[in-house]
Order: sequence, then structure tokens, then C-alpha cells
Amino acid sequence: MQDTRTRTVRVGLIGAGIQASRSPALHRAEAVAHGLALAYDLFDLDGIDGGAAALQRLLQTAAGEGYAGLNITHPCKQQVLDHLDELSAEAEALGAVNTVLFRDGWRVGHNTDWWGFAENMRRGLPGAALHQVLLLGAGGAGVAVAHALMMLGTERLLVCDLDHARAGRLASGLSARFPARTIVVADAPAVATVDGIVHATPTGMADHPGLPLDPDCLDPRQWLAEIVYFPLETALLREARRRGLRTLDGGGMAVFQAAGAFRLFTGMEPDAERMLRHFRSMG
Ligand code: NAD
Repeated sequence: MQDTRTRTVRVGLIGAGIQASRSPALHRAEAVAHGLALAYDLFDLDGIDGGAAALQRLLQTAAGEGYAGLNITHPCKQQVLDHLDELSAEAEALGAVNTVLFRDGWRVGHNTDWWGFAENMRRGLPGAALHQVLLLGAGGAGVAVAHALMMLGTERLLVCDLDHARAGRLASGLSARFPARTIVVADAPAVATVDGIVHATPTGMADHPGLPLDPDCLDPRQWLAEIVYFPLETALLREARRRGLRTLDGGGMAVFQAAGAFRLFTGMEPDAERMLRHFRSMG
């Protein structure tokens, strides 16, 4: 870890189309609150020669220039595994990394996405029944959410993805790690029997408008957690609220994964509530 009393902690984000990312502002504000000098740079693959193929070069340059670490986002969360020396247990289990630390020439991959979702659930939907849950979306985020649900105690998880093979891979990987739980692939969004629903597909973003399920199937005794956060209020979230469900937007997951990364980068304990307030104040 860098000597944070005397040096600027340099960190950044590698990903495609990341100009609107809130991560720089979140990390910088939290650093200021800790009296820490921190620089957060964006390495947007859309504007870099070679695109995602430049990943290895970017990691090498950042490590050489003394960065403490980097956040990694779409489309590199899996690809980055090929360029690391070591993985945390969770990153290895999930096969995805969103935070890389540089330590003495060693590159260590971590995953704070799953913790971000779990923390958002704990704080945002306290007391929610988690026995049976429907997960829509088995992509990179869906895998992290599924792991978080297991850690939160979900006994029966239904996984639904338009790509059935992908849902099947998530279910078999999770069953191997949590053999006492039941993880089932659902062909369609089977809402009737579950306590709650997590939405982890891109549906509802500006370039993927619409709803991932028929909202008339939703029951006010259920809860719905959204992970899309551009926009913060998706059509699904609005429909669920209108029908009286307890709901959670995707902003908290984004903030708490950043809090986890801040802790790793700096060795300091972030004030996650302060980071959440800052995020909400950004509009
Ligand atoms: P991804 O492309 O890896 O996976 C998306 C999956 O959704 C795919 O497997 C696809 O087949 C499936 N899908 C698409 N439409 C569907 C539908 N109508 N029904 C069922 N399955 C459907 O994407 P990802 O990285 O998993 O990200 C998903 C969303 O989560 C994105 O909008 C992303 O911005 C958001 N996200 C939020 C956070 C956060 O911190 N809040 C973190 C990561 C990702």
C-alpha cells in the first residue's frame, strides 16, 4: 500500500464509454473527507488505440507509473483475469474482477460488485424475505448478484436469461459452490412463487428501453431490486412502485462497490453513507 500521508494516491478506471462515470467524483470526494490526495483518471477504451486489446499495455503503464490500482469495467471484467498474478477468493469464484491492486510488481484482482449489491440490499431493503428469489440476467452483473444472494442466505434462486446456456452456466457454478441451496434455470420470468426479484439485465437503459417482465405479475407482498442505474428510475422500478412493492434502485450497488474499491486502494475505511449522499446529490 502507498504511504497515503505523503503521496498522491493515483487510481483510475479502464472501460469503454465511461465518460459519464461517477467513480472519479465519488473517490475524490471521499479522499478529501479523509484528508487524502487522490487522483482518479479515466482510460476510456473508446478513445484508445486498440480498444480492449490495449488492456495489458494500460495495466503495465499504470503499474509502472506508481498507480495504487485500477477499477475495471465493461468490457474487460473477465478479460483482465489473463493479466493478473493473483485473485481474491471472490474474484476467482466469480471469474470477474472490477478492482486491480498493484503491489510490489504484483497485480491482484478483486471483485467488490457482489459486496456492493449485498450492502445495498442490507441497507436499502432491511428485513426483506430472501428465501426464494428470481434473478433476471445471468451476465457479468448477474453472477455477482447471485453470489451476493447466496451470501445473504437465499435458499432457492430462479435464474432467467434470454441466453439459456448462460443461465445454466451461472446455475451450475453457483450450485458447485453452494451445494445446500437450490438454483434453478427458469425459462420465463416465473414471478408467482418468489419473495423478491432482482433485475440484472440492461433493459430500461436508454439504449434498451422496455420492461423485462409483465408488470401485472408483480405482487405488492414482493420486493424488487434494480441494478440498472442509468437512469436511476427505470420503467420497471416505476411499475413496481406503482403496484406497491418495496423497491431498491441500482445507485446503492454502484456506490458500495466504489466504497469497497476505495478501501482496497487506500487502506482507509470509507464512509459509505457519505458516499451515497454524495452520489444522490449529483442528480
Ligand atoms: P451483460 O451484457 O454481461 O449481461 C446481461 C444479460 O442479460 C445477458 O446475459 C442477456 O442475455 C440478458 N438479458 C438481456 N435482456 C434480457 C431480458 N429481457 N430477459 C432476460 N435476460 C435478458 O451485462 P452486465 O454487465 O451483466 O450488466 C447488466 C446491467 O447491470 C447493465 O445495465 C449495467 O449497467 C448494470 N450494472 C449495474 C451495476 C451497479 O453497480 N449498479 C454494476 C454492474 C452492472
